[in-house]
Amino acid sequence: MSHNYDVIIIGSGPAGFSCAMQSSKFDKKALVVESHKDYLGGTWINTGTVPSKALREAAKTILEFNDQFGDHENKKPYERFRMADLLQYKQEILEKENRKVKNDLIKNEVDVARGFGKLVDEHTVEVETHFGSTETYTAEYILVCTGSNPVQPKEFEIDNDKILDYKSILELTHIPRRLTVIGSGVNAIEYATTFAALGTRVTVLADSEDYLTFLDHEIKEQLEQHFNDKGINIKTDVAIQDVEFNALRNHTEVKFNKKSGDQRLQVLETEHVLFLGGRKPNIDGLNLKAAQIETDDNNFIVTDDSFKTNTDSIYAAGDVIGFPRLASASFSQGRLAACNMFGIPALEVPDQIPYGIYAIPEISNIGLTEKQAKEMGMDVTVGRAYFENIAKADMTNHTNGILKLVFNSNNFKLLGVHIFGDEAANLIHLGQSVMAYDGDIRYFINHVMNYPTLSEAYRIAAFNGVNRVYKAGVKYKNILEDQEQ
Ligand SMILES: Cc1cc2nc3c(=O)[nH]c(=O)nc-3n(C[C@H](O)[C@H](O)[C@H](O)COP(=O)(O)OP(=O)(O)OC[C@H]3O[C@@H](n4cnc5c(N)ncnc54)[C@H](O)[C@@H]3O)c2cc1C
Repeated sequence: MSHNYDVIIIGSGPAGFSCAMQSSKFDKKALVVESHKDYLGGTWINTGTVPSKALREAAKTILEFNDQFGDHENKKPYERFRMADLLQYKQEILEKENRKVKNDLIKNEVDVARGFGKLVDEHTVEVETHFGSTETYTAEYILVCTGSNPVQPKEFEIDNDKILDYKSILELTHIPRRLTVIGSGVNAIEYATTFAALGTRVTVLADSEDYLTFLDHEIKEQLEQHFNDKGINIKTDVAIQDVEFNALRNHTEVKFNKKSGDQRLQVLETEHVLFLGGRKPNIDGLNLKAAQIETDDNNFIVTDDSFKTNTDSIYAAGDVIGFPRLASASFSQGRLAACNMFGIPALEVPDQIPYGIYAIPEISNIGLTEKQAKEMGMDVTVGRAYFENIAKADMTNHTNGILKLVFNSNNFKLLGVHIFGDEAANLIHLGQSVMAYDGDIRYFINHVMNYPTLSEAYRIAAFNGVNRVYKAGVKYKNILEDQEQ
């Protein structure tokens, strides 16, 4: 049976975009269906990754300027800078990235249908356009990559004025003096430090007993120290009772109590609240049942390792399939879905992927934490480098940071890298490469690296780790000469 397309991709975020690009390189005819009236690029470009990071970069620049040259007349950043300028910067980046996506699709002869897509059967998608008309397309394969959207809070409503979510925070008209972030995931911590950099007094309310529990304990300690230094107040184990604007007192009240210990009601007065809770898959109206697509208990689409659903012609990728719900992973998943559909061999998404937290300063990690490695019964040693010992960090005034290597004491194999500090999300990739090639920490000692760079942290941490092994009784000569102990 002949179809209009080789693949129809529902959603133009990173998963959809990369599937479209890869399919086109395989000379396959692809159609992207996008429900947003104006923009391609999904949460990635329009409301999530790119805008939040553009705002963060602007805040970081202001912080760096202040740190280096001092506060002008003791004024806080919120008294000197306008939110409108910061958001204008974000908007310019967003427009630029949008144009790139649009042009790349055009250059690669990928068709785009604007409208809401829904499945009719295993090979057919119906698109309801913004003009009210309906178009029907068929394809050999369909990729569902419709992303995710936030779970709404049960205790209060987002009014998008005083009480904001990840979209309306990007429309603030001024830099708030006080902000309460409800949530303690990666995005919550990122926004908390972004606004703290702008002089905002930030409180974070976490409903769990702990937060960012996947971090190595030393990285977490550094982060908490940083929170103390910047006056970011984090309260854990919190049950929110209500959030509402008190017009008489002209502030927003957050009513909450601790879940254990003293459970008396507390009232926090703040200017704005930013709610960043969990996320759920965008499957409403997709008509998944038309193709008998299986979902899990939380409604995320179930796929196998090739990103194929239980229906042979339908694949799914990105946030709609759940963890890790990152743009970085979505790019790989969408591309691999295309490779698997068209039978072109490709590597799988590796088990170990880096995680980046774009707080100020950044945090990034890959592989095992020291605790995890020990719990697995491994004989591990760690090597640390503090940014205050790195010349480049002195020059850039980013001396607050640590890079920690976790490695096998017997063969020096690198098991994990954990970084808190400037450029952590970039720096992690050197460790990631060494790990991907099953390398050991002597790589950082035996290879010449550019100087001055923050990558020097790897060399210092490797020497620090080797020194510990030496002190434990292994001859230095054996450490450096014997590559396979
Ligand atoms: C505040 C925030 C910050 C983030 N920061 C980072 C970060 O720093 N790094 C990182 O890696 N990730 C980050 N993420 C996560 C990242 O944005 C997502 O993981 C990623 O965008 C998911 O890609 P996707 O392709 O699955 O979906 P999306 O990017 O959400 O795209 C899905 C698209 O599908 C469209 N769509 C939905 N339903 C239909 C339909 N029925 N018909 C047609 N079109 C439809 C939507 O309009 C949307 O354009 C962040 C997320 C948020 C919210």
